[in-house]
Amino acid sequence: MSIQTIAAYLKSTLRLKCPHCRKGFLFRTSNPYKLSHTLDMYDKCPVCGQKTELETGFWYGTGYVSYALTVALSVFNLIWYWIFFGISWKDNSIIHWLIVNGIILILTMPYLMRLSRIIYLSIFVHYDPKATPKHVSTPTQPVSHD
Ligand SMILES: [Zn+2]
Repeated sequence: MSIQTIAAYLKSTLRLKCPHCRKGFLFRTSNPYKLSHTLDMYDKCPVCGQKTELETGFWYGTGYVSYALTVALSVFNLIWYWIFFGISWKDNSIIHWLIVNGIILILTMPYLMRLSRIIYLSIFVHYDPKATPKHVSTPTQPVSHD
């Protein structure tokens, strides 16, 4: 895997694009913070027709991805908080970090929930640059009889 391959994967995944064609947007609303619609997805990718929920209960596995993302984001928050504000056992700085981290996790949750689904789907569905709709209606040519 080259750097370009990884960068292209990250770019399309962070923008919540279909892992199959990397063009279609799989959620019905663009804004994840409309909370009643955060997880509203198309059944199929609007561009390539890739099925989203591969089987009943498929999204259950998203919980593991979501957990991993939450841990990774918390570690990231710990590092920058440590660098900029310092963390010590001698004061309340750990409590402050916990509060800051909690607020960031809550604010990013709707996006992370969507991101988890796209990452989880991308484990099973791989990029195909030639991905096209599976059911394309082809115009029928009138048959001439002469
Ligand atoms: Zn697609």
